[in-house]
Amino acid sequence: MVKYIFVTGGVLSSVGKGIVTSSVGKMLQFRGFSVTAIKIDPYVNVDAGTMNPYIHGEVFVTDDGGETDLDLGWYERFLDINLSKENNITTGQVYQTVIERERRGDFLGRCVQIIPHITDEIKRRIRVVAEKSGADVVLTECGGTVGDIEGLPFLEAIRQMRLEEGYENTLYIHVALVPILDVTSEMKTKPLQHSVNELRRIGIQPDIIVSRCTRMISKEVLEKISLFGTIPKEAVFCSYNVPSIYEVPLILDEQGMGDYICRRLGLVPNRLDKEKIESWRSFVEVLKNCKYTIKIALVGKYTGLTDSYVSMNEAFKHAGAACSTKVLIDYIEAETFEENPEKINDLEKYDGIFVPYGFGPRGTGGKIAAIKFAREHNIPFLGICYGFQLAVVEFARNVCGLKDANSTEIDENTQHPVIDLMPEQYKVAYKGATMRLGAHKIILKEGTLAHKLYGSTEIYERHRHRYEVNPEYIGILERHGLVFSGRSPDGRRMEILEIPDKFFFLASQFHGEFKSRPGKPSPEYYGFVKACLDRKLGKERVEI
Ligand code: GLN
Repeated sequence: MVKYIFVTGGVLSSVGKGIVTSSVGKMLQFRGFSVTAIKIDPYVNVDAGTMNPYIHGEVFVTDDGGETDLDLGWYERFLDINLSKENNITTGQVYQTVIERERRGDFLGRCVQIIPHITDEIKRRIRVVAEKSGADVVLTECGGTVGDIEGLPFLEAIRQMRLEEGYENTLYIHVALVPILDVTSEMKTKPLQHSVNELRRIGIQPDIIVSRCTRMISKEVLEKISLFGTIPKEAVFCSYNVPSIYEVPLILDEQGMGDYICRRLGLVPNRLDKEKIESWRSFVEVLKNCKYTIKIALVGKYTGLTDSYVSMNEAFKHAGAACSTKVLIDYIEAETFEENPEKINDLEKYDGIFVPYGFGPRGTGGKIAAIKFAREHNIPFLGICYGFQLAVVEFARNVCGLKDANSTEIDENTQHPVIDLMPEQYKVAYKGATMRLGAHKIILKEGTLAHKLYGSTEIYERHRHRYEVNPEYIGILERHGLVFSGRSPDGRRMEILEIPDKFFFLASQFHGEFKSRPGKPSPEYYGFVKACLDRKLGKERVEI
């Protein structure tokens, strides 16, 4: 019998539900259970793909090409599992399905309503994930905050699931903020109490409360939460601030949360996976005690919100841990270099230059200037997606002498469209879910840096783009020394570029960060971090 755990949030959004959900999954994995995780997003968008990362944070891409909420990235990184687009349920998807069925005539004669039709569709989607994954435990995180109008149908659906699946197979965890007042240093539980009341009003009595506080809550506060929440004291936990987010499963487990959940759901831990716990713990230790530090410049257009680059930020941590290196990132707005061209020289002080993904013309001039600086000063460079495309533009302009070379995304009428829409994109009318998405096979050229990093000639990486290297220009780019070391199996699409005589100059059309995990860093990120370190240590070449 599959067990369902539902996670709701109170008081504020961004309270850390995603991390708590991932941590619960991790604690269950420590005890030998298989888990999967679902994120519910109550917005009306069908998926996150049409949302601006500046507002909503990064769009996470799954193997099967889902453009999902960034919390799926946390689940994948913590749980080391590959999720599907079906693991992200939105209001848009639910209504789209129900309305399509109504139009088809499936409900003929009946009035189609939020209860039962919308709630049934929500439950159906959760159960589909349960069935397909075959997991022992299905975690479902409800986005937003309890009390939001748009979240109501989802809470109603999970309320019904207790009735249908049984008390012993369902568990509600409520995560809520416990603020500390500056003036008195007092921990305040009133907002949490209100959010629990709100949840009860909807018909859900939480089984577990996780208080989110900067410090560990005091015994009195814990007792108060237990009393007002009608929850046994041993079911109140605290997710307090820790130096690394990867420590959260460990601190919650120490408080007894993993054991409590198992007891409550009748999950008899078959084998405490000591090896799993130890390897997680040692990863956390390595992260906290890195021997070296490097500083890199991230030149992008969404730098005001670091969540826009969350998978990249984490990929740098994973890569850094693999060579005992703390990676400090300065987020530099690309337009700075357009407004003040002399500022480009500030890049000299960095151990590496990183140009991430992006869309549209804004800031591209600054990014191209940063790539040029990296190439000319032999500073390690890594480019991802747009960063790859702009590296081609830079090389075409400044090495091949194609002065106005550009991407048609930036200038439709350029004389030299070295980056152009993929042919199949010309007929695309709808913006949603129509990019080249998800994992695709890539063939690596033997003897290249990419081949060395990946240790294989065949890899799968995740994509999200509409433009690509124009095949007409491959010849001239290669003749001038650019090596395309990764290509699609038919040889048509360029996937990785490198400049062999540089200390480290590599870029990829795909996003290695989406598959990066603790203990399993993305090879391209690892190579870059190692290069930054080796150059800083005065080595002649990168030792990989
Ligand atoms: N804007 C570029 C494209 O659509 C790059 C996309 C990206 O960086 N993810 O191809």
